Amino acid sequence: MELNERVKILSAGAKYDVSCSSSGSNRNNSANGIGSTASCGICHSFTQDGRCISLLKILMSNDCIFDCQYCINRRSNDVERATITPNELCELVINLYKRNYIEGLFLSSAVIQSPDQTMENLLNTVKMLRQVYHFNGYIHLKAIPHADQFLVEQASLHADRMSINIELPSAQGLKALAPAKTKESIIKPMRLLSDIYQNGRELYKDNNLLTSKDNIMIDDALPKKAEAKQLLKPIPAGQTTQLIVGATSDTDGIILKLSEALYRIYQLKRVYYPAYIPVGNPTLLPTTPVNKRRENRLYQADWLIRFYGFSVDEFITPEVNLNYDLDPKSDWAMRNMDKFPIEINSAPYEVLLRVPGIGIKGAWRINKARKYGHLDFDDLKRMRIVLKRAKNFITVNGKFFGIDNYNRLNNYMMSESAEQLNMFGNYNNVLTGEI
Ligand code: SF4
Repeated sequence: MELNERVKILSAGAKYDVSCSSSGSNRNNSANGIGSTASCGICHSFTQDGRCISLLKILMSNDCIFDCQYCINRRSNDVERATITPNELCELVINLYKRNYIEGLFLSSAVIQSPDQTMENLLNTVKMLRQVYHFNGYIHLKAIPHADQFLVEQASLHADRMSINIELPSAQGLKALAPAKTKESIIKPMRLLSDIYQNGRELYKDNNLLTSKDNIMIDDALPKKAEAKQLLKPIPAGQTTQLIVGATSDTDGIILKLSEALYRIYQLKRVYYPAYIPVGNPTLLPTTPVNKRRENRLYQADWLIRFYGFSVDEFITPEVNLNYDLDPKSDWAMRNMDKFPIEINSAPYEVLLRVPGIGIKGAWRINKARKYGHLDFDDLKRMRIVLKRAKNFITVNGKFFGIDNYNRLNNYMMSESAEQLNMFGNYNNVLTGEI
């Protein structure tokens, strides 16, 4: 099969993995227009400082020996199969990079022959890109469950970010739908990457890289000490994972509790929550896709854990799902009305963060500005606080401007939450989180 055809198949096979942020959409060029989009191939991702970068998103192979029920590339699914060699892939990346189409690579693979063989193919590709082609662009690489830890460790030396997808939140789900994988086969490399990420930081901090020669394998002669700091810092952008939502009966409470543990124990940078989409007539899974609203609410809840100082136990229990009619912060506030209203001129920063309509930037602005004098309602407007929501939970110099009837307020907050989702739609996973 021609390389072009294989690239088409392999980039289409990668589009269901959202652990590098976003997939493309389909829009053809018109007769007199410029530009077009494709549903797969080049995708956009976001760096930690908020920059948007283009990545070639591709699999090395979609010819899987495993049969995970939720996956388009599973052995039993009747799709066209293709594989690309490390050499072909390196050439492709370099050509696209030179033409300015991409700034990096998101590379994954189905399990071809064995987990070790697959991980070795991935490792050889990124190693060749770095050492033969001297490619310094961004690389996000998959770790393969059951692969030898040494191969995963080696790969981490060449990648900026790595990810291993948990996919199903519970061990029972894995057993039923992805029997070739075990919880341990996913957690073990995740633990290793977490160790590598942290040790790398310590080595960097201690300026002690050259003495770690025995632990870190590199082929070339060691670079000069000043350069070594950069070159040997493994996976500087950390690791991510994804959890498919709605393929199993796992509740949002269970999913978020797991995410909280992943952030705390393994220092994950992001957990992604793609809503389940049936692919290729699944027999053991739902035949209809999961409502996107569930996915969006999970991303909002995720922001509460990572940036707003909430613990999962404060806003959900393991038995239930989120309230999809209200965003999670408003839902928490409506269930804790005894804590409101708070006085904007004196409430601690952590309490400001809990007010619906006051985001991270807003709380920071209020905290800073009130050091120079009392704030009034117009000051808050100037700070671009979302007052139509916030005014119901605050007083300004002792005055309350909101709705003082619980049921009316609840209806109002529901309409506000719906509008918020309409505004941001499918982009909630990349928002900067002013909720
Ligand atoms: S191992 Fe990966 S590629 Fe293979 S079927 Fe499972 S999820 Fe799909």
